[in-house]
Amino acid sequence: MLWLVYIAPMLLIWWWYARRRARKERHSRDVLHAAKASGLAEPVSLHPVIDPRQCVGCGACVAACPEQPHHHVLGLIEGKAQLVSPTDCIGHGACRTACPVGAITLVFGSEARGVDIPVLSPNFETNVPGLFIAGELGGMGLIRNALTQGRQAIEAIAKRRSRRPEVLDVAIVGAGPAGFSASLSCMALGLKYVTLEQESLGGCVFQYPRGKLVMTQPAELPIVGKVRLTQTSKEELLEFWQQIERKTGVKIRYRERVEKIERDGEEFVVHTTKGRHRAASVLLAIGRRGTPRKLEVPGEDLPKVVYRLIDPEQYTGRRVLVVGGGDSALEAAASIAEQPRARVALSYRGDAFGRAKPRNRERVEQARAGGRLDLVLESQVNRIEPESVTLVQKGRELEMPNDTVIVSAGGVLPSEFLRSIGVAIETKFGTA
Ligand SMILES: Cc1cc2nc3c(=O)[nH]c(=O)nc-3n(C[C@H](O)[C@H](O)[C@H](O)COP(=O)(O)OP(=O)(O)OC[C@H]3O[C@@H](n4cnc5c(N)ncnc54)[C@H](O)[C@@H]3O)c2cc1C
Ligand code: SF4
Repeated sequence: MLWLVYIAPMLLIWWWYARRRARKERHSRDVLHAAKASGLAEPVSLHPVIDPRQCVGCGACVAACPEQPHHHVLGLIEGKAQLVSPTDCIGHGACRTACPVGAITLVFGSEARGVDIPVLSPNFETNVPGLFIAGELGGMGLIRNALTQGRQAIEAIAKRRSRRPEVLDVAIVGAGPAGFSASLSCMALGLKYVTLEQESLGGCVFQYPRGKLVMTQPAELPIVGKVRLTQTSKEELLEFWQQIERKTGVKIRYRERVEKIERDGEEFVVHTTKGRHRAASVLLAIGRRGTPRKLEVPGEDLPKVVYRLIDPEQYTGRRVLVVGGGDSALEAAASIAEQPRARVALSYRGDAFGRAKPRNRERVEQARAGGRLDLVLESQVNRIEPESVTLVQKGRELEMPNDTVIVSAGGVLPSEFLRSIGVAIETKFGTA
């Protein structure tokens, strides 16, 4: 009987472990099923591919994923690791490092969905001489990579300064981590530069949900030196960058969108929403999210007009017009309608939301039925004023009181922009 004293606790531990693993596996299956059902089964960019023949199911990759506290990116199903929520993967690559048997490869795109990656030389120059790319647009995501590449690209650009005093050495497009670090490098190296940003400092980081935990690695920032932040929040990181901006006096031209880039002899002419800039080199640090499509109506330049929903809670008690008929417009309208005292109108030029997922259509319908959302189909925005907005519906003008307009009318992908400048692009279907 003495053996029972030893065996019983072991059996108990084994039973507890098996139950826990089965529960996690059920959850992983549910997450994978939900991702497939909502059409979110294709990863956006760099992501892991797990070889099931090599995987021994130890779960080290699952535990190592820095996104795991918020998103269930990887999970174990039938004892093998799988990417269960592909669109939440941002390519940290910690899973590959953690895997003890080398079962993980990091790749771009998949068989079903190719990812366009510009062809770059080791110093970040494209096939168009003088046109450089840094950060996520070049294929490598993550803040640290973007900060490092922004600095390295400017070091290469510094070797081809402008010979004419009235021409800039470089025009930097984008003030996300790559463009910010590049701008600081220009200051450090004494280059004549302009940084053009269509929105605000921080790029993708500015768009993270409120309070998002940001995982990064120490990086070298020009002028500032080694930055040892590893785990921080979106707000702290932005505040840190804003402090650097104030202290160094680095100049960034906000709300100035680059619309066209042309070559003129050895130089570039960069056309923006506010004018033109002539430079010997151009550094594109525009990330991969593209440029939101504009409505092109009077009043669109008012600060109350935005092109993405970041945090529904900020619209508590506000009068909001959402414009668009795709999933992001419907999601934005439905989640704002859930906020206390918020009043939402959803304007779409079509007569039905044919392109949107059933789940989002249901949410909008529920909000409408509950009197929390007004649907204004077959309508277009005519003009925007500080306190109101005017729509035209079947030839009739509708003026409504308004605090914020969220335009979700799709966007122009960076690939189209790159092709228009003549940059060579390679489409990757699941290769490194
Ligand atoms: C939800 C989410 C969570 C993430 N979490 C992490 C994390 O925890 N840790 C981590 O390391 N990375 C994380 N990432 C990835 C990281 O944010 C990106 O890899 C990084 O921001 C890329 O920097 P970038 O400067 O190349 O591009 P971006 O940050 O995308 O910045 C590009 C900038 O260019 C501007 N721009 C674009 N087109 C134009 C134009 N035509 N004219 C003027 N300006 C233009 C944009 O407005 C933007 O400000 C996350 C990404 C997402 C989406
Ligand atoms: S770390 Fe490697 S072996 Fe372990 S579950 Fe993940 S892929 Fe499989």
